[in-house]
Amino acid sequence: MVKKSLSKAKYWGPGGLAMTPTDREIFREEIDWFLPRKVFDIHVHLHAKVKNGSPAVSMRLVKDFQKMVFPGRRCANLVLPVPPEGHTVEQVNRLAMREFRKDSTADDAILMFVEPSMSAEYVREELIKNNAVGLKVYMIYSTVKDKAKAPIRSFLAEKHIKVMDELGMMVMLHLSKPKAIADPANIRDIEVLSKRYANSKWVLAHCGRCFRPGLFEKVVDRLNALPNVYVETAAVCEPLVFMEVFKNFDLSRLMFGTDGVSFGGMRGRYVETGLFWSLVGRPGFQWRADFLLTQPTFVVYEQLRAMSRAARLVGLGKRDIRNIFWNNAIRLIRSIRQAQKTV
Ligand SMILES: [Zn+2]
Repeated sequence: MVKKSLSKAKYWGPGGLAMTPTDREIFREEIDWFLPRKVFDIHVHLHAKVKNGSPAVSMRLVKDFQKMVFPGRRCANLVLPVPPEGHTVEQVNRLAMREFRKDSTADDAILMFVEPSMSAEYVREELIKNNAVGLKVYMIYSTVKDKAKAPIRSFLAEKHIKVMDELGMMVMLHLSKPKAIADPANIRDIEVLSKRYANSKWVLAHCGRCFRPGLFEKVVDRLNALPNVYVETAAVCEPLVFMEVFKNFDLSRLMFGTDGVSFGGMRGRYVETGLFWSLVGRPGFQWRADFLLTQPTFVVYEQLRAMSRAARLVGLGKRDIRNIFWNNAIRLIRSIRQAQKTV
């Protein structure tokens, strides 16, 4: 049984983290047919309570939420520690590792959060000690002033990429710059680095951070030529983006992620607006007073129905769907774990 407390989790928006009639109808009509029996979420966050912000997200909460929104499905996760304000990177990693050890199962895996000033030796030791499968980095730790235009190597140090290469591990990369993966410097860096460090694995979060259509299709052929570069789907809510991905990307390197519970559990939707995007439903957003008529659903349900609509329109096969939701992630993580045994 999902805990009653989920309905009281108002931070995430009207209805909290419990199922509403709107959620049930969307699941029944648009998601159930599409969602396979096994779901691997490659983008899940654990963190402590954020001052004046998100409540704590524990492994238990992630699993309770998944049990509810993916009913009857077997679920597993890749955990990405994230540094909420007021916590050091070391504290964040410690908390996530502790939570992970307490409530994970054999299929679950975890990354380590790193920032550029950490020594390569420390990173290598911690990765091995904690049985992690790679690194999570983020642009706020960039060494340049303007974090919104941060080049990859300003928040992912090359010495850390060398460790990835040596251990055969992955990095989960949330790109900076307004055009994300379609930015000429970003795609060139991915090409250069993934080739130079051919044993490292690269996972581009949020479809290469394409929350809006028209970007992914610009670089899809170049990405297809990079065998150690993967893409995951977290929080993208635009069917057109998924059409670009499903139609043209190598589907053996596409993986399902949600950004849950922190963002996937939010009630709202990421929408294209101007040259950017916005999360309608961000905490503080004013839903109409008659919200029973405009009851929002979870971002993860908006994402899944965008995926299911795109899948239907491009005629995505059942086997591809099963691979995207489970096999591709399991294969990637197994190959990393296998490499550790031979190091
Ligand atoms: Zn995330």
